[in-house]
Amino acid sequence: MGDRWRVEVDRSVCIGSGMCVGASPDGFRLDSARQSHPVAPEADGAEDVLAAAEGCPVEAIRITVAESGEAVFPPEE
Ligand code: SF4
Repeated sequence: MGDRWRVEVDRSVCIGSGMCVGASPDGFRLDSARQSHPVAPEADGAEDVLAAAEGCPVEAIRITVAESGEAVFPPEE
């Protein structure tokens, strides 16, 4: 992939299912209120982070290319 990604979780949407942590244990963690946070706001693009975003049941995870702001997930319509 090669790009740096900016990863954000919309905590007003996150329902704390923990599926992102299961998909990407190094990418996400739940806080004491069971809200998901990216471990780092920017990271190298990685399949497990994308899988976590795709697997989130409420699409709370947004990934953009750090440099350009281009949408990675959800993809641009
Ligand atoms: S998978 Fe989505 S809803 Fe579940 S904890 Fe992660 S961000 Fe929140």
